[in-house]
Amino acid sequence: MEELKKEFEEALKRISNQEELKQLKAAFVGKKGKITALFKKLKELSDDEKKEFGKRINELKEFVEEKVKEKQDELFRKAKLESLQKEAIDITLPGRTPFGGGIHPITKTIMEIEDIFRSMGFSVEVGPEIELDLFNFELLNIPKEHPARDMQDTFYINDNVVLRTHTSPTQIRVMKREKPPVMFISPGRVYRRDSDLTHSPMFHQVEGLLVDRNVRFSDLKGVLIEFLRKFFGDVPVRFRPSYFPFTEPSAEVDIGCVICGGKGCRVCSYTGYLEVLGCGMVHPNVLKNVGYDTDRFNGFAFGLGVERFAMLKYGIDNIRLFFENDIRFLEQFSFAKGRVL
Ligand SMILES: [Zn+2]
Repeated sequence: MEELKKEFEEALKRISNQEELKQLKAAFVGKKGKITALFKKLKELSDDEKKEFGKRINELKEFVEEKVKEKQDELFRKAKLESLQKEAIDITLPGRTPFGGGIHPITKTIMEIEDIFRSMGFSVEVGPEIELDLFNFELLNIPKEHPARDMQDTFYINDNVVLRTHTSPTQIRVMKREKPPVMFISPGRVYRRDSDLTHSPMFHQVEGLLVDRNVRFSDLKGVLIEFLRKFFGDVPVRFRPSYFPFTEPSAEVDIGCVICGGKGCRVCSYTGYLEVLGCGMVHPNVLKNVGYDTDRFNGFAFGLGVERFAMLKYGIDNIRLFFENDIRFLEQFSFAKGRVL
């Protein structure tokens, strides 16, 4: 039995896989195994010897089975470790970045304008794109035969209904609905019969209106200078006298050219300045038209073209790029490219 034990231990050392272990186990404790064979010899012995040898054979059998179990676990762990090492994933390999999508530059520009005005206390209102002639023109102090109608090439649906030519009718809608004070901006699409490198028949405007007691032109200047510097950075801003039927006095607002820094270039027609806004003190006729008391209230209004703001901010020289949906253009504004505002 001692020899058998040594033989088993020697053999066990040479085992390198589960199959060999299975054969070794069979050779010692299987049906025809060397230890199993010993049990058959017991009947040749006396009762006392049977007891003694029986006990020792059983101990040897248990020893072998225990060692086989240990080896089995060891081989299993080794195999698992090897397969883990073999199947290891190289996490340093760069992954494929999915196209993250993004926000259209026009939408992004509107969102930024809204954020700036919201931070100054303005709310945001929207109005319909199909508008009454009454709201688009007449109540804004532009009667039927007024020459200012020639300034805007209007799409008429019928004599009384138009595609709005500006976002200003939202002023009328909000003032008809609410008592003063009012303070809001209104972004949206507008339509004019106009199409070239910097004009599109559909484009976007943002309208602004503030009506309260004792509003001064300097309030208008303060709000617009603050807005323009937040949007374009620290640029020079100047106000030039102008004319609009719905404001009096009226002004156009220029900023120092963001392309050439004021030295003069093609974009600013070599003047060093870019016109970006129209504005003025709300004409008393407009306030009267919505039933506001002009002895107690006055206000200012302004309007801007969103495409122009986006073109200047991102250095885009063709307005059609905004509407052609060319992915090579749009993806430059995607989150994945890291060019978000
Ligand atoms: Zn310039």
